[in-house]
Amino acid sequence: MSADLDLGAISAKAGDKYSPNLHRWLKHWPYRGAESAPEVFRNTDGLLYIGIVHDDGWFSGALLNTVLCNGVRADIGAYAPPFVAQKLKRVDGFWEAYQERGRCAIDPEHRVNFQGDTRWSADGDSRRCAWCGHVQYRRRWTESVERSGWFDSPDAAGCAAFETETRP
Ligand SMILES: [Zn+2]
Repeated sequence: MSADLDLGAISAKAGDKYSPNLHRWLKHWPYRGAESAPEVFRNTDGLLYIGIVHDDGWFSGALLNTVLCNGVRADIGAYAPPFVAQKLKRVDGFWEAYQERGRCAIDPEHRVNFQGDTRWSADGDSRRCAWCGHVQYRRRWTESVERSGWFDSPDAAGCAAFETETRP
């Protein structure tokens, strides 16, 4: 592993913000040496991959989301050079961001519910991310539903009767 990827610093023991599955998967990473530490790439559809690009242009790795969900059961696949060259772009500074914010570096929009989620502590209508400090606020709204139906009479009373009968 390279100097900027210290496995002990991103184990679940070091903090809830770090994915236990990603840590286990990294421990089983088969390629050794400073040049072979896995990096994170984003494809043109926005999906994240973790792995390495070999000198011959092939990529060995997996979808990061699969690693987060399946841990060591996430197989390492081989991706051909055209896919790598046309689709994958390295995410610079990923490990630094992950070390600092954990899984919030993977989901900066805070939309994902991660496994064993200890992310939020709620206080009334706001909640704070324990992993990075991000705060979200609850909004409440009412949505109206438009309905229609066929009736024997065109008057509003018919509609009211219909609504009364169909609502629980
Ligand atoms: Zn966060």
